[in-house]
Amino acid sequence: MGMKIIVIGLGYSGAIYAINRKMNHPSDDIMFIEHLDKPLKKVLATGNGKCNIANSILNKDIYNDPFVFETVSKHNHREIINFYDKLGLSLTTTEDGYLYPTSKAATSVRNILLKKLEELKIKVHLSEELVNYRLHGDHIEVVTSIDNYDCDRLVISAGGNASPKLGSNGVIYTILEDHKYEIDRIREGLCPIYTKEDTRILDGVRISGAVTLLVNNKVTNVERGEILFKNKGLSGIVIFNQSRLIARHLGKNIRILIDLLPDISKGKLREEIDKYSSDYVLDKYLDPKIKAYILARIDKNHDLFDLLTSLEFTFYKLYDFEFSQISVGGIKLRDIKPNFESRIERNIYFIGEVLDADGPCGGYNLMWAFASAIEASK
Ligand SMILES: Cc1cc2nc3c(=O)[nH]c(=O)nc-3n(C[C@H](O)[C@H](O)[C@H](O)COP(=O)(O)OP(=O)(O)OC[C@H]3O[C@@H](n4cnc5c(N)ncnc54)[C@H](O)[C@@H]3O)c2cc1C
Repeated sequence: MGMKIIVIGLGYSGAIYAINRKMNHPSDDIMFIEHLDKPLKKVLATGNGKCNIANSILNKDIYNDPFVFETVSKHNHREIINFYDKLGLSLTTTEDGYLYPTSKAATSVRNILLKKLEELKIKVHLSEELVNYRLHGDHIEVVTSIDNYDCDRLVISAGGNASPKLGSNGVIYTILEDHKYEIDRIREGLCPIYTKEDTRILDGVRISGAVTLLVNNKVTNVERGEILFKNKGLSGIVIFNQSRLIARHLGKNIRILIDLLPDISKGKLREEIDKYSSDYVLDKYLDPKIKAYILARIDKNHDLFDLLTSLEFTFYKLYDFEFSQISVGGIKLRDIKPNFESRIERNIYFIGEVLDADGPCGGYNLMWAFASAIEASK
């Protein structure tokens, strides 16, 4: 006789969990409770519809916690390629390490996962929401918006609070707080940021720059990549990556310095500024909108060289969850065992983004969802 398992949320981590669990424990009876009317909705939005499913480059600074890095390292991109190969989906790695389905279509990922869930006869209840659960000895009573169920194991893969239209609306945390889990405020992550400076005239300009993140005047991160100026604030992948770090430092003095010309040697730039007019240098390297912006910011404290190499923006606030790819925070990692079972309640498991685990853009968050699901499903 296998176990009766209920999984809350048919998102990415839940799907991986159920497939791996059923393949290795065929007599288990697995059922999903998913409150949306369609499963795996968020997967379709990932990687701009192409699903950046993983990354072959991993290092210990990528995630917010060493446990997250260790778990993902155990189930890295090679295992992900094999997993999908067995399911019948080819993945391709780009030169810079990003993995996508070869079809470049997130629908391929969703379809193959749903096909396998069906083949494994895993039950899926859609448009049904977890309301609460109660522990009775070794059994768990699961209360949903429609019915009550009994199970031996409850797996919570309900995501965080990012992009609520795609399912993860954060209500799960209210339920879990009643079960004595200590959850700090969940914050937006991988999202644009508002700045105190008016950026309206720069709206729509994209540059490839180098960003330095300063928290209370201390350099906290330096990263190169695309920056997109918005009507209100800053966006682009490199800014998204700063936002998840900023989310853990709210309330402090946070500034972003942008080197607009990281590929030009500082010596050469200095020489050109000394030799030619500001107009000449700005026209030579930059979009006319940035030129106008820089000229307006030159004053006795900020000369052209400073503005070109460390254009300063003061963080005001994060964009809302609606614009976030992930949430920062969640069930504390100290509250789960290495096998992802809760230390607070027996037979309750947590996987994926509902936990306090986050990584930057580049496939790292789906990798965590995958790795945590595989570990928990052993
Ligand atoms: C626009 C966008 C683009 C992204 N692109 C990438 C990318 O390219 N690469 C990458 O690595 N990451 C990407 N991410 C992040 C990634 O999608 C998430 O980290 C990942 O989906 C988290 O998986 P999860 O299973 O933990 O949660 P989710 O995928 O959010 O799934 C949670 C599921 O639980 C359901 N649920 C929630 N509460 C309840 C409840 N009370 N009862 C029943 N069901 C419930 C939800 O409806 C949902 O289906 C992106 C995210 C967004 C929003």
